[in-house]
Amino acid sequence: MRLDKLLSNTGYGSRKEVRQLLKKGMIRVNGAVMKDPAQHVDLDKDAVSLLGEEVVYKEFIYLMLNKPPGVLSATEDSRDRTVVDLLGAEERHFQPFPVGRLDKDTEGLLLLTNDGQLAHSLLAPKKEVPKTYFAKVSGCVTEEDVNEFSKGVVLDDGYETKPGFLNILHSGEISEIELTITEGKFHQVKRMFESVGKKVVYLKRLTMGPLKLDGNLQLGEYRELTDVELQELL
Ligand code: URA
Repeated sequence: MRLDKLLSNTGYGSRKEVRQLLKKGMIRVNGAVMKDPAQHVDLDKDAVSLLGEEVVYKEFIYLMLNKPPGVLSATEDSRDRTVVDLLGAEERHFQPFPVGRLDKDTEGLLLLTNDGQLAHSLLAPKKEVPKTYFAKVSGCVTEEDVNEFSKGVVLDDGYETKPGFLNILHSGEISEIELTITEGKFHQVKRMFESVGKKVVYLKRLTMGPLKLDGNLQLGEYRELTDVELQELL
């Protein structure tokens, strides 16, 4: 592969930006400074480095984002900021997209990737990937609700949900709960509570399959998945 294409595909910037790196003598191939963008390289045989750091080819990117409220789970939008707008140029180069959707006002764990196969398998209804949410709910959440959710509830459009596992953390005027569901219907958590006459006033996703939201990520921050997380996911 051409050196400029390889560097660009590896996340070092656009072809134009990569040519600037080459011009400045920042790239070495097998130890020697290489300025020719058309130079052919093969990472199986050639050692390519940028300022001493080995260049490793990667096709896919996997990012864990702590989605803030007010941004859309989309790649572009003419009016609103999207989760992709939160990423740096290096990550955007890979053209990641969100795996599933969180509502605009929902926070928490969102996976972004350009690996369509993984996204498809995580979202396939028959895989029943569990997702756990933390919610604040206006009204007293009761054991009766736990019971109802465990059998599945009927949503406003007549859809009968699969069982949901409701854990009451605090019951009061504003209750705090965790809910695990294995589906991803539109506004599902909010609509499940509506079906028992209660309103979700705050919603945050904590887990998706084996992935757990990293508590060190502030709202709007993201990081690449670790090798362990990726292995668990694939
Ligand atoms: N359920 C909802 O109601 N909203 C979300 O964003 C995710 C699950």
